[in-house]
Amino acid sequence: MPTLFTKIIAGQIPAAFVFRDELWVGFLDIHPSSAGHALLVPVVEGASIAQLPAQTLATLGDRLARLIGAVKAGTGCDDVNVVVNDGPAAGQEVAHAHLHVIPRWNGDGRRPFAQKHAYGEGELAAMAARLTAAWR
Ligand code: 5GP
Repeated sequence: MPTLFTKIIAGQIPAAFVFRDELWVGFLDIHPSSAGHALLVPVVEGASIAQLPAQTLATLGDRLARLIGAVKAGTGCDDVNVVVNDGPAAGQEVAHAHLHVIPRWNGDGRRPFAQKHAYGEGELAAMAARLTAAWR
């Protein structure tokens, strides 16, 4: 049974992609903690980061650094939270490993996952386009 994120990667469920390659994809979280909240997701299935194959793990740092750069450039945020909920006891809801990159602004006082941002009409696609344009 494919995971929700495998269905997104396969195009069976729509998502606002930032980038995609043979090992990793990045798309916007549908219930974002802040505007521009992105998910870094391995193409291969594995519930835990620790279960991912060596080649995927070897490229994690590169993709994470590039996604942080795109989120910062595309949103204009000051900093980001990088969060991994690895396992149900840690709050993981989708059993397909992923990293959250959550934009933060100086003094925003937000707590990741405690608050949600609501995109207006067309804003999700526009945000993804800005992050994709900033992808290096
Ligand atoms: P977890 O709690 O597993 O670390 O985070 C899963 C994340 O996936 C949540 O932040 C949730 O909003 C996001 N999510 C759940 N379903 C979908 C979906 O269908 N599309 C997208 N883009 N994100 C989703």
